[in-house]
Amino acid sequence: MHYPEPITKLIDSFMKLPGIGPKTAARLAFFVLNMKEDTVLEFAKALVNAKRNLGYCSVCGHITDQDPCYICQDDKRDASIICVVQDPKDVIAMEKMKEFRGKYHVLHGAISPMEGIGPEDINVPDLLKRLQNEEVQEVILATNPNIEGEATAMYISRLLKPAGIRITRIAHGLPVGGDLEYADEVTLSKALEGRRDI
Ligand SMILES: [Zn+2]
Repeated sequence: MHYPEPITKLIDSFMKLPGIGPKTAARLAFFVLNMKEDTVLEFAKALVNAKRNLGYCSVCGHITDQDPCYICQDDKRDASIICVVQDPKDVIAMEKMKEFRGKYHVLHGAISPMEGIGPEDINVPDLLKRLQNEEVQEVILATNPNIEGEATAMYISRLLKPAGIRITRIAHGLPVGGDLEYADEVTLSKALEGRRDI
């Protein structure tokens, strides 16, 4: 196929997105060509702004446009409970539920010996630092209910046991192998409510 170069570039850009193959990318590119210029400019600006103005919270690792993030800054939240999740999207899923009033810690991944990801490759050292400096009474391990998520939960629970902090694991109401971020609010709420000490 011989598209003019600007279209080829646009198609290549769309193909960098997850789940977008060449056909969809071409369809999207031609769709953009038919969009109003204002709309295209707004779209381009949103992309650049999101990238430039968003970073990770230096305390919890959540995605944010201010540091610390709004959750870490919120004094009304219970700082004695930290919910450990794998991904910023999990924080958003938990927040949608509106039941958890503690704070979070985002690992940015899970331990996976198969992929050579160890505890030092995810945000575990920062969690340990927080536990030394903050008055934390409970750590809820809300990693995904799959092999990597379970391994990560086990690792962290063993690591934290000597510190005498209560460590809980969210209940298995979540579909096995499913990601936390895809759980509906009721399931997530039940999983949180039914958490057990480990
Ligand atoms: Zn934060």
